[in-house]
Amino acid sequence: MMKHDVEKNLIDIRDAIARAARGSGRNPDAVRLIAVSKTHPPEAITIAVAAGQRDFGESTVQEALTKIPRFPSQGLEWHFIGHLQSNKARFIPGNFAWLHSLENLDLARKLSRLAQEQSANINILIEVNVFRDVKKHGVDPEALFGLLEQLVKENLPALHWRGLMTIGPHSAPETEVRTCFARLRELRDGCRRRLDLPEFTELSMGMSGDYVAAIQEGATMVRIGSAIFGARDYSRKRP
Ligand SMILES: *Cc1c(COP(=O)(O)O)cnc(C)c1O
Repeated sequence: MMKHDVEKNLIDIRDAIARAARGSGRNPDAVRLIAVSKTHPPEAITIAVAAGQRDFGESTVQEALTKIPRFPSQGLEWHFIGHLQSNKARFIPGNFAWLHSLENLDLARKLSRLAQEQSANINILIEVNVFRDVKKHGVDPEALFGLLEQLVKENLPALHWRGLMTIGPHSAPETEVRTCFARLRELRDGCRRRLDLPEFTELSMGMSGDYVAAIQEGATMVRIGSAIFGARDYSRKRP
């Protein structure tokens, strides 16, 4: 992928985001673009940063740690969007401002303790498995409210409860994708109201193939990889 491709893709996607937002009566600034740089080298991130990109997503700790330290004091925000194993939790505070994939209380307790030790804070999204797909991670919709209620009750001051994340159904009809995103929005609204959490505002949903629909259904964060950086080559050795 050439430099001008990444630049052009970013311009095109920002444009499409703004159009989708305005078209549904929303402010384009209310949608944050997270550039998912997993499997792509630091050089690709450098190009995106030069083109004004500030939010980046990674899905494995091991790979992220080869990149994050290369971009100190450039005002970047890193988002952990993959499944987090408990034994990797210690690498989150200080490296990632956002975790999109919380799904249980034990991990939250551990993260909070680790973050406090480093005087760090983490913005937390709970991953929801909206259609209870057996191949996916995330909390069942039925279990979400109970989990969040417990999280809020615990004293976990380093963690900020900010909203929900989901991965839309893969190669599903448009109506099904929309139903998934609309359902996540309703779940967020319900949690926010019933638990009186004014900062529980975020909806992380939408990827390269479905981000327009996600924005129309209320996404506040879209996680876009291949449409910015090109196709991922998993056969290449990871950095
Ligand atoms: C890889 C990944 C993305 C980006 O996917 P693209 O289809 O390349 O845009 C978004 N979210 C999660 C959780 C991912 O793992």
